[in-house]
Amino acid sequence: MRHVAVIGSGPAGYYTAEACQKTFGEDVRIDIVDRLPVPFGLIRSGVAPDHQSIKHVSRRYEAVALTDNVRFVGNVTVGEQVSIEELLGLYDAVILATGAPADRPLDIPGADLPGVVGSAAFVGWYNGHPDHEALAPVLDGPGAVVIGNGNVALDVARILAKSEAEFAGSDIVGHALERLRGHAINRVTILGRRGPHQIAMTPKELGELGHLERAAPRVDAADFPPAEADAALDPGQRKSVALLRGFAESRSDKPIEIVFDFFARPIAIEGDGRAERVIVERTALDGDGRAVGTGETYAVPAGLVVSCIGYRTPPIAGVPYDARAGRFANVEGRIAPGLYAVGWARRGPTGTIGTNRPDGFLIAEHLAEDLPQASGKPGRAGLDALLAARGADVVTFRDWQRIDKAEVERARTGAPREKFTSIETLLGARGGS
Ligand code: NAP
Repeated sequence: MRHVAVIGSGPAGYYTAEACQKTFGEDVRIDIVDRLPVPFGLIRSGVAPDHQSIKHVSRRYEAVALTDNVRFVGNVTVGEQVSIEELLGLYDAVILATGAPADRPLDIPGADLPGVVGSAAFVGWYNGHPDHEALAPVLDGPGAVVIGNGNVALDVARILAKSEAEFAGSDIVGHALERLRGHAINRVTILGRRGPHQIAMTPKELGELGHLERAAPRVDAADFPPAEADAALDPGQRKSVALLRGFAESRSDKPIEIVFDFFARPIAIEGDGRAERVIVERTALDGDGRAVGTGETYAVPAGLVVSCIGYRTPPIAGVPYDARAGRFANVEGRIAPGLYAVGWARRGPTGTIGTNRPDGFLIAEHLAEDLPQASGKPGRAGLDALLAARGADVVTFRDWQRIDKAEVERARTGAPREKFTSIETLLGARGGS
């Protein structure tokens, strides 16, 4: 019997478990360890609450979780309650699927002022991640700035712009809905340090901005290259740019503007004890497509600044780490004998949920090559003994099913669930109905 520990229960973790099942059949036991008492990682706390159709993929992970050779070991932090070295002693393979839950730092003066938050914190807050339940962002000014031109920037702008009615059917948490209700923001400025051709936004997500009840996108037609230049773009990007061109032509009298400010690089955040404005430098592209400052600066008023400039994988003691790339040092997922990385922890924070599926199969292929036969390690029995000796309060998949049921039962009318947002309430809900 091969014993595999997967650390992290998000998409990368479950796709890897599924790939290991398919590759080794009955000859494998997989423990999926997570520091939270709930599974599914980014599906639960990263995917926007108004994108329920994407969240349905968790049903597929549930099917994997409910098979006999896969276990969920929740509420256990690797690196604290059990070390990587210990896991390597217990399992034939340890696969890090820990994602990239930390914000890439916004390295400009004033980035530490109150009112400036990273997208991991902001998204985690409206999605009920226990690490961010206390964020309570201040939404009292008319201006908000979102830094970055990726899909996370779009998510954040859309959540700030939607009316309460538009959250019907979502699983946005109550504390976020409460704070967003009646906020004073009437202009959300999305800063892109490069131009419309360089955005990292996808058409479906961009298109949603054109159908909001009380908000409309605003784009300056002067920011585009000549229309003929769009022909050189790949089809998806061409579609996105066509949407932006459409936004530039449309007029709206909706009360909230979502302003795309291209060729705009934030260089400082200023304010008296809290964020009040972002100082922006106008940029131009150099021959290699990089943003270069022109020296022209201006201020964008903002009481809230959300930095959506990408993520990093936090290091784990004893695991080789590539600090420049912000992920584990690896070659195609191999870190060291018996130790692997998959998903964002392997390749950085890019791609869709589905990108993790082939990633999982790649690791399963490596395992088949590197582990032609089991080594006789104890696997789950060894982990259980170690965690019991340390007094760990392990959450099982059965426990999660009870938490799930309790969340669904307390949902607002029409909402799929009302999440518990602290570790204590999540653990308490295990004993419920
Ligand atoms: P992303 O796609 O990598 O976008 C990051 C953006 O931040 C880029 O526009 C980048 O500009 C900009 N940026 C980086 N450093 C900056 C700096 N110092 N100052 C100003 N701007 C800076 O990252 P993301 O939006 O966090 O998304 C992560 C992944 O999740 C992506 O693959 C995304 O598609 C995916 N995602 C998908 C969905 C969905 O499908 N609905 C939703 C959310 C996220 P440059 O290009 O100039 O570097």
